[in-house]
Amino acid sequence: MKAFKKCEMCSAKVPVEQCEFATQKRIINGKEYVFCCVRCAESFEKSKK
Ligand SMILES: [Zn+2]
Repeated sequence: MKAFKKCEMCSAKVPVEQCEFATQKRIINGKEYVFCCVRCAESFEKSKK
């Protein structure tokens, strides 16, 4: 069974079946967000601050 989450920044599909550490997760303002890459995570984080 394949599970995907959408990258909050670019809407790319992020597979969640892989190792947890391979997924870019950030807790921003108490909410968990998933990203496809570090670059997306950082730009989203900046836009939230
Ligand atoms: Zn992305």
